[in-house]
Amino acid sequence: MTGDLTTLPKAHLHLHFTGSMRLSTLQELAAGYGVRLPAALIDGDPLRLPATERGWFRFQRLYDAARACVRSEADMRRIVDEAAADDAAEGSGRLEIQVDPTSYAPFMGGITPAVEAVLDAASTASRDHGLEVAVIVAASRTRHPLDARTLARLAAQYAGEGAGEVVGFGLSNDERRGDTAEFAHAFSIARRAGLASVPHGGELLGPSHVHDVVAHLSPDRIGHGVRAGEDPQMLDRLVTAGTTLEVCPASNVSLGVYREDADVPLRRLVDAGARVALGADDPLLFGSRLVAQYETARSVHGFSDAELADLARASVRGSRAGPTTRARLLADIDAWARQAEHRP
Ligand SMILES: [Zn+2]
Repeated sequence: MTGDLTTLPKAHLHLHFTGSMRLSTLQELAAGYGVRLPAALIDGDPLRLPATERGWFRFQRLYDAARACVRSEADMRRIVDEAAADDAAEGSGRLEIQVDPTSYAPFMGGITPAVEAVLDAASTASRDHGLEVAVIVAASRTRHPLDARTLARLAAQYAGEGAGEVVGFGLSNDERRGDTAEFAHAFSIARRAGLASVPHGGELLGPSHVHDVVAHLSPDRIGHGVRAGEDPQMLDRLVTAGTTLEVCPASNVSLGVYREDADVPLRRLVDAGARVALGADDPLLFGSRLVAQYETARSVHGFSDAELADLARASVRGSRAGPTTRARLLADIDAWARQAEHRP
């Protein structure tokens, strides 16, 4: 018998606001606004294609189509509420959800009310669903680095560690766009405010991209970073620095970075001593949520219950949760692991 992974307490550190949406919610929103969704979004497993047909541009097109169906404050609140409910149902005690408020500014009257709506919804959802929902404000590589500074200054005003507060600053979108060094200033603004530095890196691009991210953005965590494993020296550096890698196996395979689940170097990264926190990234597009990532670790990579508990511990340690929450979640993981040990 193996332990029930939905009851394994964990933290979820890599989940995007739009990408967290339930397909049924997206369909309801689209119907309400009279929007026709691309068939690929509705037909299930939208990105499960032959490896040669996967890839970023298709993903981006579908993501944009989904985002275009979010048009009101009520829509935004609903997304946060459902993301929290779904995370809580999967044993997550701490969700750090990532949002770029720029996309929602036009109907919210600016980036400030867009961020405030998400933070307020995160507080409410935390109370309603019994977990802590904190927020990461993320800039986009496709926009001007000055926009990133504006977002960093905004994020800094809401800095904290608890539910409904901003805990980190990210950089998302196509890794091949923008010059990483030009975003350094934005990240230093965020860091001075006490925010975690949590840029994406090393998924579509290899170790040299991770190198740039480390050199210019001083990450506490790297969104993905899986390809750091291709350069032992780079990986050593991350291990020594204690940088958490937010590994999202379904994303890697769906985007064609790896051909199949077994090719995701999860075992290699963990064996090298890297801190790995599993994440779902964009369940709407990749067709699987948080527990499914732990299930892949078990069924494809052979992680034992004790090792799965270690992954959960790494997710909690990599989070920005305060000491009380952290201690509680770690104690609950210990209890889960003890029970798993005594299972017949
Ligand atoms: Zn991501």
